[in-house]
Amino acid sequence: MISFLDLKAINAQYQDELVAAATRVIDSGWYIQGTEVKGFEEEFADYCGSKYCIGVANGLDALSLTLRAWKEMGKLKEGDEVIVPANTYIASILAITENRLKPVLVEPDEATCNLCLEKTAAAITPNTKAIVAVHLYGQICPMPELMELAEEHALLVLEDAAQAHGASIGERKAGSWGHAAGFSFYPGKNLGALGDAGAVTTDNEELAKTIRALGNYGSHKKYENLYQGVNSRLDEIQAAMLRVKLRHLDEEIKCRRKVAEYYLTNIDNPNIQLPTVADRETHVWHLFVVRSGQRDVLQQQLAEQGVQTLIHYLVPPHQQKAYENWHTEHYPVTESIHQTVLSLPMGPHLTLEQATQVAEAMNLI
Ligand SMILES: *Cc1c(COP(=O)(O)O)cnc(C)c1O
Repeated sequence: MISFLDLKAINAQYQDELVAAATRVIDSGWYIQGTEVKGFEEEFADYCGSKYCIGVANGLDALSLTLRAWKEMGKLKEGDEVIVPANTYIASILAITENRLKPVLVEPDEATCNLCLEKTAAAITPNTKAIVAVHLYGQICPMPELMELAEEHALLVLEDAAQAHGASIGERKAGSWGHAAGFSFYPGKNLGALGDAGAVTTDNEELAKTIRALGNYGSHKKYENLYQGVNSRLDEIQAAMLRVKLRHLDEEIKCRRKVAEYYLTNIDNPNIQLPTVADRETHVWHLFVVRSGQRDVLQQQLAEQGVQTLIHYLVPPHQQKAYENWHTEHYPVTESIHQTVLSLPMGPHLTLEQATQVAEAMNLI
């Protein structure tokens, strides 16, 4: 069986380093907000090319605490419209509704599945105050054009970079384009902890301070509470794991790119549409997503040939029970994406031999 993602095999490569890092934390006797978190925050800010990084408990909190901080800073208020791609993972939208802001779902570009500039521009109203730019599947959005559009309309841009650690346009990485970016380090992400973890990157000092306080009961200083905050902190143990994994991120991205290149050049089947890549240098291949009108049959046939695949995602947010108010709305591009997508095995665990087997199975179907 060729597994979709083999976390055990990936982390086993770094077993000695991970054990040493865990031992260092255990021996320190300090488990919350210590030197590991501080070290990781500096290293990850440096990696992304942003001034500040704030560790939080998970990716959803990274997004929702940023929006909350902008509310506390008077930059957003309840009911403000926030543009978000209709085909994103639901967490991008949960962060908006959790803050009583109004998500405005926008159809993505059919080819890249990322925000479409024209449709984004058309969705802007006098009430629009922010855009959540999701770098879906690991492909970065057209950030220079998107930032220009945002500047014209004085909009805040929050990158949802949960799938795009290390993706870049030129030298500039995801996490350094928007006014802030939310990252997830969920174990299956390209930079994965050994549990839940997340972070925000930004160049704005006031925003960084506000998020840090909000995630720590609303407190900058012990016993002084400025906001009705929450508890959302990155643990020392996860920060220590992430410092190890960050050192290997670029090699892992290289492995993912090799597998993707192999798939792109060797899968050749008129019934299967390969992913559209705006620029091969910008993609970090969190997911390799093909499209097929007979997706379910394809998945079944691949399973019979020992190839494990997943669907990202089966049901779009506007058709989920959680968002019943949207059930009468239609987003044809989004719906067709959800009906046709299939994610092939992708990750640094794959050998070229396994990639060959996947491509052969795809071509025989
Ligand atoms: C994973 C993911 C999130 C949420 O991150 P968690 O750490 O699981 O909370 C948000 N947005 C996108 C696009 C994701 O893929």
